[in-house]
Amino acid sequence: MKVFQLAGGILALSFIGLMVVRTAAAQNQQQQDPTWKWPESRVFETVNRVRAGRDLTPKHWPNGARVAVGLSFDFDNETPSLRDGQTSPALMAQGEYGARAGLPRILSLLDKYDLPATFFVPAISAKLHPQSIKDIVAKKRHEIGVHGWIHERNSLLGESDERDLMRRSIEALTEMTGKKPVGLRTPSWDFSPWTMKLVREFGLLYDSSLMADDRPYEVMMDGAATGVVELPVEWIMDDFVYFGMDRQTTLRPFTTPDEVFTIWRAEFDKAYEEGTMFILTMHPHVIGHRSRIAMLERLIQHMKSKTGVWFATHEEISRFVKDGKGN
Ligand SMILES: [Zn+2]
Repeated sequence: MKVFQLAGGILALSFIGLMVVRTAAAQNQQQQDPTWKWPESRVFETVNRVRAGRDLTPKHWPNGARVAVGLSFDFDNETPSLRDGQTSPALMAQGEYGARAGLPRILSLLDKYDLPATFFVPAISAKLHPQSIKDIVAKKRHEIGVHGWIHERNSLLGESDERDLMRRSIEALTEMTGKKPVGLRTPSWDFSPWTMKLVREFGLLYDSSLMADDRPYEVMMDGAATGVVELPVEWIMDDFVYFGMDRQTTLRPFTTPDEVFTIWRAEFDKAYEEGTMFILTMHPHVIGHRSRIAMLERLIQHMKSKTGVWFATHEEISRFVKDGKGN
């Protein structure tokens, strides 16, 4: 026990060390160009670059359903390690688990309950696992959306690099799936000042990377409505924060599947009560493990035990709210 405590203490210190470095960087930036010196106009201009516009929750979901449920799986596999130049075969194997073991379990679970889902796929992940993409497409009810080229940190890129990677990602997915993707989830939900501009340039229907609400909303850019639908996400409804582990920076133990079930069920129950929407973000290399996929099945059974639950892809939800069909 003492050994664990010691190891935990060292990890805690390295985590705190990282936070101190980050805080110092933020403080340095603040000293160079302190926001308290900004004119209000500059504060408003910055905050208004991308904001939430009108609530798009319909009065009724299709067939009078009370709630829309969008199950999404970010098919990252090796790419989050690759983007940081971490190429150890051990890390590659941890990612490969998603395609090799996780995805087949997910697809068979979705088959069992006849559910649609959206898979956000970095283009490199699709190229590394072409059979997985064929397996998803063969089901004929799932959607494939954009999730970067190599899970790049797009908020650190210049505008032209981000545009180039988005173009190449869309082209690669279109070629592999036979359908042009209509939605984006940015890698790690990062957002640069021009990401939304690029979403419009490429004519995408929706984004699913922002967090201003639990309900679908229209994105505003520089104070004007964009027509782009936002299906908001949250770390609370992401498997990685509970089950993922970074041994460099954290001593956080894995959360148990039972605890995650309790949180996700409460999120769903409130969405059901409010008549809104429940968007869940998962990763085949994270949720695909045995104890966790069993928990996801329990959650699906709970949702299916209620009447009026509409399971749909992100594209279907976005088209429904954008067209105002339920009003
Ligand atoms: Zn991802």
